Amino acid sequence: MTKKNKYKSEKLLKKIKKSYAWSGLLSSIIFMSLVTVLLIMMLNAALSYTIESWMSTEYDRVSYMAKLYESSGAAEVSKYDGDDGEYLVVDKSGTPVYEHGENTCSMEEFKAELYSKPDAGQISVYPDSKISIFEVKDNKISMNMMLFSRDYIRVDNLDSFIQNGIIRYPIWMGVPLSDGEHTFIGCSRFNIDKADITFIVVIASVIAVLFLIMVITFIWRLIRAFINQRKVSSLVFNDEVTLGNNWMYFRIKGEQILRRFYNRKNRYAVLDIDFVNYRNYCVCHSVEEGDNKLRMIHKKIDSQLSTGELSGRYASSNFAVLMRADNEDAFKARLNLLLFELEKVDSVHKLGFHIGVDYIDPEIDKNGKMIKRKDIDIEKCYNNACAARVTLDGNDESGMAFFDDKLFEEQKWIDAVHERQLAALNNEEFVVYYQPKYNPSTNTLKGAEALIRWQSSDLGFIPPGRFIPIFEKNGFITEIDHYMIRHVARDQKAWLDKGFNCVPVSVNVSRAHFIEEDLAEQIRDIVDAEGAPHDLIEIELTESAFFDDKKALITTISRLQGYGFAVSMDDFGSGYSSLNSLKDLPLNVLKLDAEFFRGDMEGDRGEIVISETIRLAQALNMRTVAEGVEIREQVDFLAEHGCDMIQGYYYAKPMPASEYEQRMKEPVSEDSGEDSGK
Ligand code: C2E
Ligand code: CA
Ligand code: CA
Repeated sequence: MTKKNKYKSEKLLKKIKKSYAWSGLLSSIIFMSLVTVLLIMMLNAALSYTIESWMSTEYDRVSYMAKLYESSGAAEVSKYDGDDGEYLVVDKSGTPVYEHGENTCSMEEFKAELYSKPDAGQISVYPDSKISIFEVKDNKISMNMMLFSRDYIRVDNLDSFIQNGIIRYPIWMGVPLSDGEHTFIGCSRFNIDKADITFIVVIASVIAVLFLIMVITFIWRLIRAFINQRKVSSLVFNDEVTLGNNWMYFRIKGEQILRRFYNRKNRYAVLDIDFVNYRNYCVCHSVEEGDNKLRMIHKKIDSQLSTGELSGRYASSNFAVLMRADNEDAFKARLNLLLFELEKVDSVHKLGFHIGVDYIDPEIDKNGKMIKRKDIDIEKCYNNACAARVTLDGNDESGMAFFDDKLFEEQKWIDAVHERQLAALNNEEFVVYYQPKYNPSTNTLKGAEALIRWQSSDLGFIPPGRFIPIFEKNGFITEIDHYMIRHVARDQKAWLDKGFNCVPVSVNVSRAHFIEEDLAEQIRDIVDAEGAPHDLIEIELTESAFFDDKKALITTISRLQGYGFAVSMDDFGSGYSSLNSLKDLPLNVLKLDAEFFRGDMEGDRGEIVISETIRLAQALNMRTVAEGVEIREQVDFLAEHGCDMIQGYYYAKPMPASEYEQRMKEPVSEDSGEDSGK
């Protein structure tokens, strides 16, 4: 995944998560607020309406009583309102000048505002001193919201307010008398009868039910949002095989951990753990069984981790692990234990595990530069761990490898080669060197091997050992093989045209190339395009290529020979089923590996092996070439035993084409050889 795509998908994930978590919550909160406001408004309207209707009749009654008192006296008021009517007349200082009934007006305590009713005149409203169910404030009478609080029902004897099942709430109304000196204050009779109570109860119940629905909806949505979020998380972060964390979770969570604990005291390591025999295991058993094993491996890894550590499956049989590594010895002991425990996952089969480790040292990166907290890149560390792990490839035994400066340099080198390979090919930076092959008996030139060199515009002169293995891994080797065949054919054609004594030149063709079905035809076409005769081109195959599809190999070799190309087996004796290959493959040339001629040929035994191999090749009708021969004694020995050609420093090192031309031109003396003054 490219970095851009990675961040894109992360953003999307965050968006999905957010929308699941907050959309439900937010809409519920908005909905609840709206409904609450609506309910309060409804309640307010209902109460206002009730109070309003009570008030208007009471105003009229008290105003009328005041007028009666002024015009006809207290007796007339009593006649109108009965003896239980309560009122008092006060002077400007508030001192009562006349009282009728039990006065509980609390005008001493409250400075009441005027109630503004257009035709009510200057009526003041006072709460009752014994009961505070009504509040008088800011020109308004309202039902006290703390209705049910004990403090507000300070009624000494509630019975006096309940008459005939009707609750009577007193409020006092003062009407200024025309003398301007006195105020008539009459007790209103706010009666709440059953209809009013029913009305209020119905409204309150509706409101309560609505509120309840709202709260339930809110909670339900909250739970749903939570469940959805968990579902999304498990979909995105769970590994479908192990049911544990996947790579994305490891990366996000791992970086969080690293950033949070980023300081000198904490050292972490990122691991790549690979179950080496996974593919083989799946082939022998089943993919399902293989997955089962992966699940067990995941569990085992997790069981070895403590808090603040993390694992996640990367892909296939690779697990990424983040571990504390404060103490190197203790950490390595833990890794050994981990390998030991992992091997116990299967008691029947011997499983192998490779662990690659990259230490994350706080603050300093591999280049010695300060790492900023935000620059911590766990993916890069994991890649480093993988690079370390890859060095264990080819060995099925369990083991561990640590990413270090050397590996880092190697990675950098591989990267540099990748970056330049195509341009180098297009700019013809690859140069063909020729290493002559001589007949040791006559010291005459019999052939040559084409060997590649890279004359890089910025990296300088590079020997093949530094880049051929990289090309073999990244597949670019097939381009190189074509390039070499084309250039050798071109050179041979040019030399022929110049009248040189051309000898066959062998070209290395990589193992990766040999799986192509039409390889023989590809080679034929390239050589034909350059106009070189086929018998001047020989194809060298390394022994390791012979392990693959033998039938296909035989077909390709036969086809090449059919087109007139000789085929040789390179490095014979360096691998292990050489003899078997000889049995099956119809080759023309056997190249004895240079290893045969290292040291002193290990005495008699070494000499026996070499002489008998030459005899074997002769019996199979193959020519022999001895590679890596550096000393005179070896040349003499090989000549004595009938070796056809020698390719080694004794005669010549690989050389540029111009130098090789001289070798073709010069007649070779009988005693040729570099150590003999040639
Ligand atoms: P190789 O095919 O076995 O080539 C022989 C190697 O042995 C050459 O190394 C050659 O320089 C070296 N050599 C020959 N005689 C002596 C000797 O007396 N003493 C010592 N010490 N070395 C000797 P070179 O050129 O460095 O190539 C190394 C390998 O790179 C080759 O081994 C071959 O596997 C690969 N290679 C080189 N050129 C090509 C190419 O064009 N295509 C492919 N596919 N591989 C190539
Ligand atoms: Ca070779
Ligand atoms: Ca060789």
